[in-house]
Amino acid sequence: MKSLWNEEEAKQYTDELGLRVYTSQLLGRDTNLVLHGGGNTSVKITEKNILGEDVDMLYVKGSGWDLETIDRPGFSPVKLDHLIKLANLESLSDPQMVNELRANMSLASAPTPSVEAILHATLPFKFVDHTHADAIVTITNNEKGKERIQEIYGDRVVIIDYIMPGFDLARLCAKQFAEQAHEKTEGMILLNHGIFSFADDARESYERMISMVNEAEEYLKREGAWDLDFSGAAATPPNIESIAKLRKDVSVTVGKPMILSTVSSDKMMSFSQRNDLATISQQGPATPDHVIRTKRLPMLGTSVSNYISQYESYFQTYAKNARDEKTMLDPAPRMVIDKELGFISIGKTAKDANIVSDIYDHTIDVILRAEKLGGYRALSGQDIFDMEYWDLEQAKLRKGGSSPEFTGEVALVTGAYSGIGKACVEDLLAKGAAVVALDITPEVTTMYSRADFIGLECDVNDEAQIKNSIKKAVLAFGGLDIVVLNAGMFPGGCQIKEMETDVWKKVMSVNLDANVVLLREVYPLLKASPKYGRVIFMGSKNVPAPGPGAAAYSASKAALTQLARITALEWGGDAIRVNTLHPDAVFDTGIWTEEVLQARAKHYGMSVQDYKTKNILKTEIKSKDVAELVSTLCSSSFSKTTAAQIPIDGGNDRVI
Ligand code: ZN
Repeated sequence: MKSLWNEEEAKQYTDELGLRVYTSQLLGRDTNLVLHGGGNTSVKITEKNILGEDVDMLYVKGSGWDLETIDRPGFSPVKLDHLIKLANLESLSDPQMVNELRANMSLASAPTPSVEAILHATLPFKFVDHTHADAIVTITNNEKGKERIQEIYGDRVVIIDYIMPGFDLARLCAKQFAEQAHEKTEGMILLNHGIFSFADDARESYERMISMVNEAEEYLKREGAWDLDFSGAAATPPNIESIAKLRKDVSVTVGKPMILSTVSSDKMMSFSQRNDLATISQQGPATPDHVIRTKRLPMLGTSVSNYISQYESYFQTYAKNARDEKTMLDPAPRMVIDKELGFISIGKTAKDANIVSDIYDHTIDVILRAEKLGGYRALSGQDIFDMEYWDLEQAKLRKGGSSPEFTGEVALVTGAYSGIGKACVEDLLAKGAAVVALDITPEVTTMYSRADFIGLECDVNDEAQIKNSIKKAVLAFGGLDIVVLNAGMFPGGCQIKEMETDVWKKVMSVNLDANVVLLREVYPLLKASPKYGRVIFMGSKNVPAPGPGAAAYSASKAALTQLARITALEWGGDAIRVNTLHPDAVFDTGIWTEEVLQARAKHYGMSVQDYKTKNILKTEIKSKDVAELVSTLCSSSFSKTTAAQIPIDGGNDRVI
């Protein structure tokens, strides 16, 4: 581990809060120090209040901010002398403590200060840095953790036995620091939790953190507990139907759809196949901060492909135990370790699921290195329980807040790179769904860079590519709830007397045949949808009101509409809803260039604007309008509707 301090970068920050922002970001850049919101920092600054009086403020990381991306507004200013007085109280409940923190800020709009604010306040240094560094928790999550820490740092650090974060920890640290600290004290190690460094200078405090963690890493290397070997794991093709089934069970237990993300890296595979997996993985997370986001214990199954006999009973026992222990708001596990698949992380969103797998990726290093050092010893079951049922965490869970309509659901859209397909992707993402976008255009893979999106290059006429895309969708998000059959082609005007056989076949193949294959392949996944499966067919105005010169297109869309009706009949018993849209005159798509529009308008002797709005409502129909209707049809508003055919054409007298 190296210091990332850079003079050029540092020059941009001239004041104390600026430097606090800078070194906090430096900590956040190293995932072995800080991961997804873990860790916190502070700076003590004297400033003038509105009356012109000098006041000492503690600027401490606010909740909801990550050190990696924190900026000035991420630090909450709290009156320092009040915090120090609080630290002298005999007791203070955690909700009372949070109230005191919020009520003593000098900026009403600042985020809620970190629950470790009082601890920061009591350390008599301008800058305080706190992380849950992997190397430190590796050493302290060990039978002889305390002795090893003493061996490494001597009396340069104050050592605090494990106690849950919150007021009692702040009070204990203040007391122990006052008793043990001396001139050469550089830091404080909280056993089974993490490390504090401090100094009156931003760089010094940061670099003390780096050098202390570095000493821990060097110690692990000296003890032969650093290098890990993840080679030699056996791979098995994933059984995606079993993953979807597991997702359904998890979702039903939580009471809402969840995302399951499978990581089959060499590391995860190798870990999942260890003989001692049950012993080493069932102890608990490496630091209390991880308890909340990963839940206490991983769920272990021997293989997801043999779901019924192995997972189902295990899952039910897990959920029951969790419920029996106490009224639990959300008893579902957040991770599953599977011998065939590696690691499955579970979250309300794809982002949450990614956080779980990132944390566990580091936890594996911690566990395996601690094992090499003599044995991983996580927090006791009671400590983990206390953390999980912490008043503050339960309050957060209860508060919840409303989520977008499709949160936790997974949608697949074909023809997703442009026009209506792209608009559907955007609308579904905006409404909370994780989206799998299929398109023949390779650029679909880089359409967006976000956790809840995967773009897959796929020729819908290639069965193998379809199967592979669906497999990737399930590995990424755990299943499918919504399918939008949008991919299609319009070959250009052509009378039957001039129809080329190959053109006819190609249109039928893309607009009709490909969808039959896709439907067949997604059926078991839609059937396993936690709520209900939904399919939207993109028909066309040409179905109810065909025109000359579009035989192949109109016939393919008419056949597709008939396919939708049969699908609705066959799948209704599985609670899968199937509906069809008949759009018309959607001109903001790839095929309608300005030239084509002008040519068509001229053909009718109209202006482009009149041509675009030649419908009963005299309105322009955009891709976005179609996408919104797709989402609405998939929403609970239409939960009792299947086999509907809905025009979105501004009103067409031939259709009416
Ligand atoms: Zn902490």
